[in-house]
Amino acid sequence: MLHRLGIFFFLGLFALACVPSLGARGEDAVRLDGPLVQGGLVRGFAPERARVTLDGAVVPVAEDGRFLLGFGRDHPANSVLEVHLPGGASLRRELGIEQRSYDTRRVAGLPPRLVNPDAEGLRRIAADRARIVAVRAAPPTPPVFASGFAWPALGPVSGVFGSQSIMNGEARAPHNGVDVAAAIGAPVGAMADGTVVLAEHDMYLTGQSVLLDHGLGLNSVYIHLSEIAVAAGARVRKGQIIGRVGGTGRVTAPHLHWGVNLGQTALDPALLVGPMPPLAP
Ligand SMILES: [Zn+2]
Repeated sequence: MLHRLGIFFFLGLFALACVPSLGARGEDAVRLDGPLVQGGLVRGFAPERARVTLDGAVVPVAEDGRFLLGFGRDHPANSVLEVHLPGGASLRRELGIEQRSYDTRRVAGLPPRLVNPDAEGLRRIAADRARIVAVRAAPPTPPVFASGFAWPALGPVSGVFGSQSIMNGEARAPHNGVDVAAAIGAPVGAMADGTVVLAEHDMYLTGQSVLLDHGLGLNSVYIHLSEIAVAAGARVRKGQIIGRVGGTGRVTAPHLHWGVNLGQTALDPALLVGPMPPLAP
């Protein structure tokens, strides 16, 4: 597991200092905070009204210049960040993205109907997926994650980000979150301040599911819950209980599956938080 949080990159101080229209204020610098690694989330700070692109795709920027960059499981080794300033100056920076290797996870003995759903199951899976894609495609909201990130549940980590699942001998999509093997009924807290944008009680694969929006496209999911304690539209604070651990949907044992996305790109939740805190005795 990588623990590379807190790395600071100061970009382009020199590039901006020579543009007279920007003035000489220190906050005119473009700064990145976070791990440049596959699965990593990086917080960016640019001057107000800057326009930011990553590999040509427009990155949402908050009114105060904050933005987020996310690098997916298989992100290539290089990316190009461009920041265009209101006065016409621009900054181009090549980012080297650390490449990772991933575990293979073998799960055997699953009921065949869960590994190979019937036609009705496939229809429901497609409808659930479309719903979640649509929620994640909503226009970006202002950032509310300034108070940071926390583990949503405590317990043994039973599944890591990016692992390749082989279910009953068949390769499946890579694991796109972190599994915490807490007991049924254990509290699940919001990883950060946010808004409940989805609270569903019967999704085919994920069972009782909650999705939170944290702003600028950052969102988190909490699935297989036994109970949901919040309703769609509610504002939540970091650590607020949003539900309880369960075994609903497609699971072999009760656990919390915690996922973090930037837009549609799945990130590694473990990179947002420190080591798992010790369980209370
Ligand atoms: Zn999982």
